[in-house]
Amino acid sequence: MPELERAARAVPYQRLPDTLFPGVEAWIRRDDLLDPLISGNKAYKLLFNLVEARRQGAEKIITCGGAWSNHIHALAAAGRRFGFATVGIIRGERPAQLSAMLQDAERFGMELRFVSRDLYRRRGESEFIEQVGIEMNRTYFVPEGGANLAGARGAQFLGRIITETAPTPFDQVWLACGTGLTLSGVQAGLAVIPAVGVPVLKAGRSIYAQAGHWLRSLGVAVKHEPLCEGYECGGYARINPELSRFLHHFKQTSSIPLDPVYTAKLVFALYSESRIGKITIQSKVLLLHSGGLQGRRGLLPADNDIRDTLGQII
Ligand SMILES: *Cc1c(COP(=O)(O)O)cnc(C)c1O
Repeated sequence: MPELERAARAVPYQRLPDTLFPGVEAWIRRDDLLDPLISGNKAYKLLFNLVEARRQGAEKIITCGGAWSNHIHALAAAGRRFGFATVGIIRGERPAQLSAMLQDAERFGMELRFVSRDLYRRRGESEFIEQVGIEMNRTYFVPEGGANLAGARGAQFLGRIITETAPTPFDQVWLACGTGLTLSGVQAGLAVIPAVGVPVLKAGRSIYAQAGHWLRSLGVAVKHEPLCEGYECGGYARINPELSRFLHHFKQTSSIPLDPVYTAKLVFALYSESRIGKITIQSKVLLLHSGGLQGRRGLLPADNDIRDTLGQII
């Protein structure tokens, strides 16, 4: 997958307006622009999984996720691009109308298999694929969200790329966390630059546990920073009035699109922390745009930009 590696080195960094982050020199790395379809942190988590699938001679890649999973979307697009058949095991019954994300996945050629929530809960067990009724011949399995060691190595690769391509010496790199895998991989790759995770759901304890686990698995002796908690805004995929006001304000001062589930909370956290003086004055902070823009169709139905772009590409 050398083309994804090349693209990672070419991802632009942008300086954000001073008025948004008083006293802080804020930048954003636009991994949403990594590739038109396989973008953000999910692309990095897939990178070494794709390499490994190819090495093993697999023809088909199987994974699982929910109806709005950025990971399902990225794998379906990657399968089409790099010549793998793909199967997505989706939590819950097949709805009458597929989500926009799953419609894309089908258009990319992914076979969708809907399973009951009871069966889905057993996705970590070794017989899971068999129980879903999928033949395991010449197949490669990627766990939900790309959460395996190859996924962590991909995030580590991203951290390393940041140290090599940073336009200025950053004091901190901030990123949104769901499970914490990307945080630990990026921290491992950054080595001495601290990575600060902003949880998008109230799951600090599990993120610390996951981050510790992945840092140990990668065999690196770096420690993780305290999380920047308190910007969950009501929980996963929820938006509260403060976040919504901030998004409106951000849209007026910057032309950078954010997704409401992850990156909106990330940028809101730095905005709020810099306003209450919690960040060392004059520090250089890099925000990581981890993608996810295709998911905006689930939360902001009026936003048709992405639908149009996808429509032109597919
Ligand atoms: C999945 C995702 C994350 C969170 O990644 P974790 O490794 O689970 O912490 C962040 N941003 C976007 C856009 C994502 O899709």
